[in-house]
Amino acid sequence: MVRNTYKSRTTLLAAVMTLIPAAASAELRVNLDELVGFSTSSKTKIEQAANLLETILNSDEFKQAVLAHQFEGKTLFSNNDRTLNDGPIQRGLTNEQVYEALMAGAEQLKGRPSVEDSVANLELHLYTPAWYKKWSVVGYGYPGQANIYMNWYYFNSFNSAQIIGNLVHEWIHKLGFDHDYGRTARRPCSVPYAIGDIVARLGGGKATEPPNCEKAR
Ligand SMILES: [Zn+2]
Repeated sequence: MVRNTYKSRTTLLAAVMTLIPAAASAELRVNLDELVGFSTSSKTKIEQAANLLETILNSDEFKQAVLAHQFEGKTLFSNNDRTLNDGPIQRGLTNEQVYEALMAGAEQLKGRPSVEDSVANLELHLYTPAWYKKWSVVGYGYPGQANIYMNWYYFNSFNSAQIIGNLVHEWIHKLGFDHDYGRTARRPCSVPYAIGDIVARLGGGKATEPPNCEKAR
């Protein structure tokens, strides 16, 4: 575990040093508004991850990767609809609109006003599942609800690149984006999966689900 932490820190520093900030107007902050179930060391780990995530989301590399994302030879994400908290669905967002939605940080949560505050507001719950479903899910959340539930077994074994890939995926759900729930060919090319993948890659990690989105059918 100690060795793992050391590795994560090295990855974090390496990533931060090579990223070029995007235009200053596009600044997004990542706030840990609520941390439930985190020990002191888990808290340190999630704070480092949040800092890395913030650096990546504000980088030019991230912006370019989002704008250039391709699916079936077209510059778009496979699942690019966005459900707003008062019901309407914005259909077929372009990559530019997806990027702007991310940077605006307006979560779509039931019973809460949706504010373009340029803040990724995270409410994280670290939980320990029963042993027989130890590795069943990395984490989960419910549509329209702020809480993101993170499985401690994964959290503990993950490096920072893996943590932020998962974190941004779950946060993107809070913005109103979704994906197929079966293992379809296009699922890795949806906004949550593809951007989770971009973030993990820029964080120094390997893509969790190699997208091959350019060629996907
Ligand atoms: Zn998801």
